[in-house]
Amino acid sequence: MTCLLLAACGGPARPTPTPSASAAAPAAPAAPGSPSPVPPSPSVSLAPVPAGFVDLSDVDKSIMSDIRYATPHNFVGRPVTGYLRARCLVTRQAAEALHRVQQSALARGYSLKVYDCYRPQQAVDDFVRWSGDADQRMKGEFYPKVDKSALFDDGYIGGPTAHSRGSTLDLTLVATPAPQQPLYRGDDPLVPCTAPADQRFPDNTIDMGTGFDCFDPLAHTAATGVSAAQREHRALLVGLMSAGGFTNYAKEWWHYTLRDEPIRDTYYNFPVA
Ligand SMILES: [Zn+2]
Repeated sequence: MTCLLLAACGGPARPTPTPSASAAAPAAPAAPGSPSPVPPSPSVSLAPVPAGFVDLSDVDKSIMSDIRYATPHNFVGRPVTGYLRARCLVTRQAAEALHRVQQSALARGYSLKVYDCYRPQQAVDDFVRWSGDADQRMKGEFYPKVDKSALFDDGYIGGPTAHSRGSTLDLTLVATPAPQQPLYRGDDPLVPCTAPADQRFPDNTIDMGTGFDCFDPLAHTAATGVSAAQREHRALLVGLMSAGGFTNYAKEWWHYTLRDEPIRDTYYNFPVA
């Protein structure tokens, strides 16, 4: 069951992180399993982006993006604390590596599309608070088969995430030329992220077998319950990303970390602004 929950924290947590040295408001990662340990943080610092981070679009304008945590179309159903703008901020090394992956993808008729990049600790804290409240408005799409309380009880939501180190991304592939994607309206009936692609939210990506941030074993990269075509799509993304220096997290087909990430022990908290 625990493997279902990692989408919320974006991959395996490290047990003893060093809080950000350069963030304006370093946040203490929540202790796994403890009840709502993080106080509300109604305001966020407008600290500048630290040296070493770039906007991915400044390195490669062709990479598509749908920064879900800056929108209501995510598992909490509203913009997440710390996401003031829909930007993909990453370390320069990750951006340049991603640019090289994009060149390979474009040559094969695809484009990368990022869902999440650098994620401030305050966003993780927001997930912790959310896990302790009663809101289940997005259950029907993102965790249709999982009790929300399990997301926290298993100790993952409160953990630090590699995303806060700046070289981890959630992403997928779009066939080019990219199909139109309808705007998320928020008032359509929710469809489980495990439903067939023609029934799920009409994301314009190729069919990976589940939607993004789907809390279900079907989201495991090597899940056997997906079709041959869906498995090939996942393998295509793994191949492109691996050749570009990224490692996939086996329990989330969309989650990749730069193997030679330049920042390994600092978890940042500056807002995406
Ligand atoms: Zn992730």
